[in-house]
Amino acid sequence: MATAEKDCKAPGVVAPVIDRNKCEGKEDCVKVCPYGVFEMGTLSAQERSGLSLIGKLKAWGHGYRQAYVVKPAECHACGLCVTACPEKAITLAKVAR
Ligand code: SF4
Repeated sequence: MATAEKDCKAPGVVAPVIDRNKCEGKEDCVKVCPYGVFEMGTLSAQERSGLSLIGKLKAWGHGYRQAYVVKPAECHACGLCVTACPEKAITLAKVAR
């Protein structure tokens, strides 16, 4: 077991948040997360309209493919995705209770 995995906390305390203006769909988070928290998807028209100009250009350049948090309750706060993302698009935020 990797060191980061051993140090994981109880799930459901924090969950990743993806900055839609930064994600370039490189899938590093999908590959590195030991708990299957992420999946790749395509930005909806509504999500696209909320992007900055730079975000729109970046998203268009990558076919609007981005990572999505599909199992936030499985996040063990290991931080592997935060470190792996080459765009620094992921932060961990406390889950509201
Ligand atoms: S912090 Fe760890 S468990 Fe949580 S989403 Fe990122 S890689 Fe997965």
